[in-house]
Amino acid sequence: MKVPLSSPLKNYLSHKSLVDSSIERALQSGDYILGREIEDLEKEFSEFLGVKDVVAVASGTDALALSLRSLDVSRGDEVITVSHSAVAVVSAIEQVGATPVLVDIENDFYTIDFARVSQMTTAKTAAVIAVHLYGQAVDMFSALKYQSETGIPVIEDCSQAHGATWQGQRLGSFGILSAFSCYPTKNLGAFGDAGLIATQDAELGLRLRRLRQYGWREKQHSLEPGVNSRMDEIQAAILRVQLRTLDLRNARRREIAETYLEALAELPIEIGSTRDNCEPVYHLFVCELQNRDKFRLHLAECGVQTGIHYPVPIHLQTAYLGRLKQGLLERTEAVSKNVVSLPMFPELSDSDVAFVVDAIRRFYE
Ligand SMILES: *Cc1c(COP(=O)(O)O)cnc(C)c1O
Repeated sequence: MKVPLSSPLKNYLSHKSLVDSSIERALQSGDYILGREIEDLEKEFSEFLGVKDVVAVASGTDALALSLRSLDVSRGDEVITVSHSAVAVVSAIEQVGATPVLVDIENDFYTIDFARVSQMTTAKTAAVIAVHLYGQAVDMFSALKYQSETGIPVIEDCSQAHGATWQGQRLGSFGILSAFSCYPTKNLGAFGDAGLIATQDAELGLRLRRLRQYGWREKQHSLEPGVNSRMDEIQAAILRVQLRTLDLRNARRREIAETYLEALAELPIEIGSTRDNCEPVYHLFVCELQNRDKFRLHLAECGVQTGIHYPVPIHLQTAYLGRLKQGLLERTEAVSKNVVSLPMFPELSDSDVAFVVDAIRRFYE
């Protein structure tokens, strides 16, 4: 493939010596788990977001599950989220024994529809997980209104939206808790598994620090049952390097998106819109079109890799078929048939982007 969908390797090579020296610093420290790099990363990311506290964990899925656990969400509770998303969200809800309840996405966006969240809310609803999909904010106005009217916490899943803002404020700083995946392809990516939890509540921060390590109050004494979900020092050192250039790399993603938006405007391709007062970070550049398979085959023959996020809604996947509580999911099912993701990562050159655009134009000639 001449132009891949994403490339963590190109990210590494773009600042190799900084990454290498940070890894060496971590290795030379003699501490390999929950040491100085973790402390610094947590402090630096909380300043970046403008939140009280950040807790480093082993993955984005764990960040969601531990967030739920810290709110005492468990068996018998329901957690509302979307079916048009990574399966990780449903997996995290079931990890704590709670019941996922799936609702449809909005008509004009790819994110959770709070009118439907209200319809599906019951006495058992313990939390909502709102996913800022593709680097675009959910309807935060409705999210905050729902939260204040019902008292039910809305957890932001920012795994595709590191650095994005709504009304000038970073996503992940609005709710009581928010979760970030730092999987290598994410906007803030480690070179391994990693996750972060942000919170505006200092007590929750303390509890999360216990929960990620066996519920330890101090070494070898568990105050409550916990898990092992620690981040290692090497990943923390890498993430500290990545954080320094996150805003710059997100700006480059927006530049690439602008080029795509202009070039594709005249073609029979639908492109998701950006909400008012929101600065997206284009984790993915997703469009909708007819004849998806032919389109993807044509691009592959040209040397351009594309992807589908997500081809099968969670409620239709074998593991969950007929098993989950759900509302009507018409739009979720419809968009899953037409969505295509184009190459999107900051290290794409202008000529790479032009090459992709040219290949797309030729499909419609
Ligand atoms: C990547 C992702 C996750 C899962 O993160 P992992 O680090 O792979 O566990 C969760 N939610 C969303 C929206 C994601 O994109």
